[in-house]
Amino acid sequence: MLSLRNVLEQAQKRAVAVGHFNIADFIMLKAVFAAAQELQVPVIVGASEGERKFLGTRAVAALVHELRDEFSFPIFLNADHTHSLQGAIEAAHAGFDSVVFDLSALAMQENIRQTREAIAQLKAINPDMLVEGEIGDIGTGSEIHDFAPDLTKGLTSPAEARDFVQATGVDVLAPAVGNMHGMLQSMVQGNVKKHLDLARIAQIKASTGSLLTLHGASGTADEDLRKAIAAGINIVHINTEMRVAWRRGLEAGLAQDPHEMVPYKVLPAAIESIKQVATSRLKLFNKLA
Ligand SMILES: [Zn+2]
Repeated sequence: MLSLRNVLEQAQKRAVAVGHFNIADFIMLKAVFAAAQELQVPVIVGASEGERKFLGTRAVAALVHELRDEFSFPIFLNADHTHSLQGAIEAAHAGFDSVVFDLSALAMQENIRQTREAIAQLKAINPDMLVEGEIGDIGTGSEIHDFAPDLTKGLTSPAEARDFVQATGVDVLAPAVGNMHGMLQSMVQGNVKKHLDLARIAQIKASTGSLLTLHGASGTADEDLRKAIAAGINIVHINTEMRVAWRRGLEAGLAQDPHEMVPYKVLPAAIESIKQVATSRLKLFNKLA
């Protein structure tokens, strides 16, 4: 079985990106796995601190490892937005393939100092675990927001990105390049799309030579995502679109029969709805559409 690093390096050579989908329950995992299996493309599932608290850090790791082993399939697990060293260490012990160690709210020098320290401790537990660092401001919360935050002041500069990568030794960098966590109602309806600072992505790639992750990609124009991947993005995170699909699918499943109470009769509608999102995004990221 290839490691996550191998998979990302192969994706980089082919100028495609690996899709990262957050999961908060078993049906989201089933939906993402089914989409990736059908398309035969590698995939990363992510669990944030909140999602891990709900699922159980070791329980979600056991589920993902089981699928990987049973089907010999390249599905990987990421500890998304982890704000404490203790949380990152728990994920490392549970066998997560990667961690987003997110101290982007701190001043740059403090972010560098603590990220470097975390990498040393995490690699001592598992040398193959990838550590992603984050700088800049991409907002918080994969939810529907009433107003777009002003993130223009928090964009990552190519020089900052280079300094951060060199000083910390992170395996992957998450920059702020016009991306934003969450969506506006107008984006859920599809009337408005997010747009990315594509030139900045290319400059950051050139200045760092690092693997790059695009967070908060839900609601981004397809063409911007294609160009962002061409400019050097290697991992694309989708969460809010999945949550919208989860809710819509669940409501549809319940509406089919108001008296139905058998979970495995209600929930397939939710799985189908989530799977459609994952399939269409994976096709785009892997140049299959
Ligand atoms: Zn994120």
